[in-house]
Amino acid sequence: MSHSYSDFESLHAAVRKIATEVAGVHAVDVDKNARFPSETIAALKSKGVLSAPIPKELGGAGCNMRELALLCSTLSGSCGSSGMVLAMHYIQVGCIARHSDGSGFFEAYQREIVAKQLLLASITSENGTFGDTRSSICAVERQNGRFILNKQATTGSYCQHADGILVTCRKNADAVKSDQVLVLVRKEDAVLTQTSTWDTMGMRGTCSPGFDLESSGLEEQILPVDYADISAETMVPYSHILWSALWWGIAADAVGKASSYVRSVARKNPGSVPPSANRLAEVSVHLQSMRHNWLALADDFDKITARHDGNKELRDMGWALKMNNLKIGTSDMAPQIVHRALQIIGILAYKNDSPYSLNRQYRDVLSASLMISNERVLSKSASLLLVFKDE
Ligand SMILES: Cc1cc2nc3c(=O)[nH]c(=O)nc-3n(C[C@H](O)[C@H](O)[C@H](O)COP(=O)(O)OP(=O)(O)OC[C@H]3O[C@@H](n4cnc5c(N)ncnc54)[C@H](O)[C@@H]3O)c2cc1C
Repeated sequence: MSHSYSDFESLHAAVRKIATEVAGVHAVDVDKNARFPSETIAALKSKGVLSAPIPKELGGAGCNMRELALLCSTLSGSCGSSGMVLAMHYIQVGCIARHSDGSGFFEAYQREIVAKQLLLASITSENGTFGDTRSSICAVERQNGRFILNKQATTGSYCQHADGILVTCRKNADAVKSDQVLVLVRKEDAVLTQTSTWDTMGMRGTCSPGFDLESSGLEEQILPVDYADISAETMVPYSHILWSALWWGIAADAVGKASSYVRSVARKNPGSVPPSANRLAEVSVHLQSMRHNWLALADDFDKITARHDGNKELRDMGWALKMNNLKIGTSDMAPQIVHRALQIIGILAYKNDSPYSLNRQYRDVLSASLMISNERVLSKSASLLLVFKDE
């Protein structure tokens, strides 16, 4: 399936339409039944949106970070789970697009993503590594040009709906836990046994229970670059910028509802400004600074990666700190913004069956500080700050 968008705006317009006409329509049911947003993902596939990060020369839209972030924020403004699925998929595609290192297999696979609009999931979590994505217990075994990889994942979003999963593991049976690689497991080569449930407060449509994975495949499905580099140069920046954008989309949705509520109050008393309008003005300050935070770092990322030696800078302590600060800042801010919107609207936001309800947005956005625990991120920053000197 080839969709050549002449410019980013027409791709963005397609996602806007899907957000309003598909994602928003099914969001309540997706949330209520903790089911995969299949209508939304089908619509995204039909418009070629899943290959947006793939370079134009391989058939994708060649979107940069700013553009991907805008797409995620637009979709999450209608359905947080759909926005998160799109962001997680883009993170995986980004890892392949930026780290295939001339591999013929991964070049062909990118063309396959474009043609078939394949959906990719991720398994970094593992029983026994306690949320540390930079350690693995499982190891990939290589023999005669093939691999075997088995992993016990604590959390795996939409794995049962994905065409492929990128899985972290040790490089071999003798490697230390941080000496990792990233392996592409194809759906047809994977046996997934669900080991826990996903009955959560929010982000219910991401369908993220635990799984035992048994898989095999061709050795060339192992990305030819150390995961340490993939993590610093792509997985972390893509995650923190795209997640921040989608959390902002949820917060902006809540502020949008607060805004239309305040306008409806104003219409009832022409000539007067409702007292809640001041609170609306106040929350819009926070919404704007949150948006500028992720947009600025998306632009920084695009500028850095456009440079010949840009990836080196992405491995620096200074960049790692910026990414950690973004993650902590936006994941703290988003729930506060939704909370303020709830106070502005009052009981109509607290009700489940009101057009101003913020029930889903509130619960979805609470996942932000847990998805890679803020405490864990802060402790990494704390160690870096002991030695880092800003110049
Ligand atoms: C919506 C959602 C979707 C997800 N999808 C996926 C997916 O697709 N694939 C995947 O692999 N994983 C996924 N995850 C899991 C995610 O990657 C993390 O593994 C998980 O959020 C961490 O869980 P944890 O709280 O048990 O981890 P931990 O980081 O171990 O935290 C446990 C507790 O320890 C505390 N803590 C941790 N480190 C420190 C420290 N240094 N100092 C003080 N306290 C600390 C934390 O505050 C927390 O209270 C998803 C999570 C969410 C919320």
